[in-house]
Amino acid sequence: MSAIDPTTGPCPCGRTDRRDKPIGYALCCGRYLDDFENTPAPDAESLMRSRYSAFVLERAEYLLATWYVSKRPASIEFEPGIKWLGLDIRSRSVLDADHAEVEFVARQRSSTGTATRLHERSRFVREGDRWYYLDGDLQQPLA
Ligand SMILES: [Zn+2]
Repeated sequence: MSAIDPTTGPCPCGRTDRRDKPIGYALCCGRYLDDFENTPAPDAESLMRSRYSAFVLERAEYLLATWYVSKRPASIEFEPGIKWLGLDIRSRSVLDADHAEVEFVARQRSSTGTATRLHERSRFVREGDRWYYLDGDLQQPLA
């Protein structure tokens, strides 16, 4: 486990402000994770980032609440001992007012020390004033 408390330190998603300073959790994904009933993430990238933070913090209820209902799993199991190392947003495309895609790389290390890069192009859909994660395509590393 990290010695840094992600709820008071920099946001796990790694977002920075205009001066490249890390934004604190409470001012970044914490707003959505801790009050998702009243404060939905305002765009697909913010939702993507907040879902990464939810994986880091093992907040299953947030992950389920932001999963589009037809694609939502019954429950989420977190792999024990996983350490998330960082999130890198590669691209964002707004397809129309209610559909967007975000391509990202998330890095993690398992309890046995195996490092993995999860490279995915995720699809998001908006219903009312809320964005939801729909699904995603894993991207194969370039040969
Ligand atoms: Zn964040």
